[in-house]
Amino acid sequence: MTVIAKFGGTSVADFAAMSRCAEIVLNRPQTRVVVVSASSGVTNLLVALTQANITDAQRVALLNDIALIQQNILQHITQREVISQALEVLLSRIWQLSEALVLDRSKSLMDELLSLGEQCSSLLFAAVLRQLGGRAEVFDIRRVMRTDSHFGRAEPLIDEIAVLANEHLAPLLDDTVMVTQGFIGADCHGKTTTLGRGGSDYSAALLAEALAAEAVEIWTDVAGIFSTDPRLAPGAKALKEISFNEAAEMATFGAKVLHPATILPAVRRQIQVFVGSSVAPEQGGTWIRHQVTDAPVFRAVAVRKDQTLLNLHSLKMLHAQGFLAHIFATLAKHKISVDLITTSEVNVALTLDKTGSDSSGSGLINAPLLQELSEHCRVSVEDNLALVAIIGNRIATTSGLCRRVFSVLEPFNVRMICQGASAHNLCILVAQADAAAVVSALHTDLFESDVD
Ligand code: ASP
Ligand code: MG
Repeated sequence: MTVIAKFGGTSVADFAAMSRCAEIVLNRPQTRVVVVSASSGVTNLLVALTQANITDAQRVALLNDIALIQQNILQHITQREVISQALEVLLSRIWQLSEALVLDRSKSLMDELLSLGEQCSSLLFAAVLRQLGGRAEVFDIRRVMRTDSHFGRAEPLIDEIAVLANEHLAPLLDDTVMVTQGFIGADCHGKTTTLGRGGSDYSAALLAEALAAEAVEIWTDVAGIFSTDPRLAPGAKALKEISFNEAAEMATFGAKVLHPATILPAVRRQIQVFVGSSVAPEQGGTWIRHQVTDAPVFRAVAVRKDQTLLNLHSLKMLHAQGFLAHIFATLAKHKISVDLITTSEVNVALTLDKTGSDSSGSGLINAPLLQELSEHCRVSVEDNLALVAIIGNRIATTSGLCRRVFSVLEPFNVRMICQGASAHNLCILVAQADAAAVVSALHTDLFESDVD
């Protein structure tokens, strides 16, 4: 049985944090591969080093900060001679690359620089594991994580990764834990690439796919996925289990969970994913699975703030064809991605998806877009709205569900409702100022009372 465990930046921030993670690995002998992020803050410092126009003094300060984080961990390693030498090599490489970047601003040099955070943390983490009695080796993930040459946001080459992982990594998975780097890869010329910020969850899922692992564990600083944001509803509970579909809905609606894209390789191979806290592993965590044992109607409430509603009115829509196609073509031309949509005979209301849209420079809704839409319809724009999503199962087919939800919503003005498209969510748009109260009222009624 192969389990891949991934530890994020805060989980490997310092020696104490690394030791807690090492205990987790040692207590779970099925863990064969450990994927680590750079220690907390290090990737940001490396990014700062890649900026143009930094002064020599700034460069020295950044390099010192990076070295200090690593050396603070190293000083707790008792047999540190070999590790200390290897770390020196990595730190001087950071120094060299940061100097080289002054003249050569190539993306490939930048990626090599960014990769050094994970190289340092994996070296140190393997040493901590050994110190606590484990058998552990560092494995250079660039031997198997083959990507294209799109530096800064490289695409993994799934088939090649599977072949390479089975050739170079699988034979090593006996009683030694392989500690490797998240976030980084290499192209076919052997040049170091990175998968984009926050990419190490993706690395772990890709490895799980390539090695046909039984599970991926994502150890972070929260004890799993919660029924809602505990800051909004103190009764929020960590969920024992959630389906991939529900988790994807939650992530889209801004809940603090893994981004669905990052675990896609696990989803397509139906590999279960665990999310738990490396600070308090005894609290358990959440399993995200293809098949859940219990699929309740109400699983969670999520909220996404700062929504914009675009309302389009035109009599031309009545019994006409192609009006919506035209509107969507205009939005697409302006690189605006649409989120929710409701229509009446002569109106269309849309909320806009900030992350899916390209708003570089001019803001999401700009004058040329409004001008173009106004040629076909009357346009109004409303801001300061929030989307609240109720996530669960059989949402569109459970009778009595709407009555229950809307009796809770009685005191609030619901600006828009989306219900029926998804079995897994019911979405309402409310004033941003009401969002916290709406979430808390829904959570209390749907999750904290006995009836379900
Ligand atoms: N170290 C990288 C970052 O901070 C990747 C990761 O942590 O997932 O973006
Ligand atoms: Mg991270």
